[in-house]
Amino acid sequence: MSLLSIDLQRKIYPNGVCAVQDLRFSANQGEFIALVGPSGTGKSTLLNMIAGLDTDFTGQIHSPPDTTLSFMFQEPRLLPWLSVADNIRLVLEAPQRQHDNARFARMETLLQQLGLQDFRDSFPNQLSGGMKRRAALVRAFVTQPSLLLMDEPFQSLDEPTAQDLRQLLLKLWAESQPTVLFVTHSLNEALLLADRVLFLSPRPAKVILDYRVPLQRP
Ligand code: ADP
Ligand code: ADP
Repeated sequence: MSLLSIDLQRKIYPNGVCAVQDLRFSANQGEFIALVGPSGTGKSTLLNMIAGLDTDFTGQIHSPPDTTLSFMFQEPRLLPWLSVADNIRLVLEAPQRQHDNARFARMETLLQQLGLQDFRDSFPNQLSGGMKRRAALVRAFVTQPSLLLMDEPFQSLDEPTAQDLRQLLLKLWAESQPTVLFVTHSLNEALLLADRVLFLSPRPAKVILDYRVPLQRP
């Protein structure tokens, strides 16, 4: 079943840069898709459009009306004046969301599962890069999104840390099966994670190869 259907004609920034042109694909429910392409091709632009953060383009993006979305950015974007737990509570207490005790219970489970229980009262600047990403993963999954957008979330980490985070991501993904769009410029990372890899052209971004990864996960 299709969760996201993208049919974009063009995205041109006010300075004349055309970031996306004739880009089409659809994503099924529960698919883990990597978007791979060179730096500057328009990958972040595309995620911003899907998230509704950028509405200045021609074309269409459709998903079912009950689709819920989380976005994980390259920088973990934790609020520095809030503890880890409060950063996560923030998305649970956002005004459009119902106060729901099951979600708070889920937050506790995720904090434990990701080894953050002793860091719940720490502030972001007291955490390592890897721990900050763990907190960002909890924040992304705690609302049980049906669509998860990830923009190079493990960039600029050492390889063992990135490796741990990829394993955690796959575990969390397997538990709740959101549709994931994972942007990376690393083909290696894409093949480690995804069911399907969309290769994007140099700017303006369009899909030049839609590749289903044949290997099963360990
Ligand atoms: P990627 O994520 O693939 O590295 P981006 O989507 O960030 O690519 O950028 C695509 C192109 O659009 C780049 O040439 C970039 O410089 C340009 N661009 C991105 N944001 C803006 C903006 N706000 N104004 C003008 N040009 C932009
Ligand atoms: P990424 O490679 O992760 O997409 P960039 O370093 O290309 O990030 O861009 C960082 C920020 O700068 C983004 O918010 C992007 O929209 C903005 N940006 C990039 N290129 C331009 C540009 N030519 N003019 C204005 N803003 C830009």
